[in-house]
Amino acid sequence: MPSIFSYQSAAVDWCEGNFEHSEYIAEYYNTISNISFFILAPLILWLNSPYMDFRPLPVRGLAIMEICIGIFSAYFHMTLSYAGQLLDELSILWGMAMCYAFWFPTRYFPGFIKNRDQFVRVVLLVTLLSTLMSFVKPALNAYVLNCVAFHLLYLTTQELKQCKNPRVHHLAAVMVIWWVISIGCWLADKFLCSWCQQLNFCYLHSLWHVFINVTLLYCATLIIYFDILYESPASEPRLMYWPSETSLLALPYVAVLKPQKWC
Ligand SMILES: [Zn+2]
Repeated sequence: MPSIFSYQSAAVDWCEGNFEHSEYIAEYYNTISNISFFILAPLILWLNSPYMDFRPLPVRGLAIMEICIGIFSAYFHMTLSYAGQLLDELSILWGMAMCYAFWFPTRYFPGFIKNRDQFVRVVLLVTLLSTLMSFVKPALNAYVLNCVAFHLLYLTTQELKQCKNPRVHHLAAVMVIWWVISIGCWLADKFLCSWCQQLNFCYLHSLWHVFINVTLLYCATLIIYFDILYESPASEPRLMYWPSETSLLALPYVAVLKPQKWC
């Protein structure tokens, strides 16, 4: 019986041909495209330094989880091992759980939860159970991750319905466009591989790695904006772009116009 660490022991294989560019790296471009996770992590820390003066923990946690996801995803695509697949999926699950625990708005807490400490304990319990289940039924993981992603999208639309700021709507629209492009790349690589092979372009999964990071940057900016808006409205958060709004590669961030002390 092959070990869970042995090459190509994973249940999935992506469209890119295996060992085409290196005898040690199964999927070359799917592996190196994970560099986008290592670029995004310091970028999020740097762009959100005004927010980190108030709440440093969530952004630092997010950056650390980004690095973990990048490492495990690179290891998975390099080896296509079962252990790599599990580590990749579980790091995404724990990353999402951490964002829930830190940022889930208190007004959406279910009735039986009284405060954030209780909420964090429930999230921890559910994440531990999902982690254990993924060893029993690995296929379940992808469904859990998708459910969480759609729940986040639902919450975003709820928030946007109450928000009149056109800058917020624009940022959310751009985020959804990137998200759709990312998911499209992931699905096409998985289900339309023979077409991709005919077109001689089997690298859509590596584009998914890049585009989902762009989506994450927009998503984190939106979450941070709402966090400041609800927790400290007098701080006057404002959505900005670096280096400028009109530049080709404009990166979104939240500026704090009137910094206040948070309780
Ligand atoms: Zn991947």
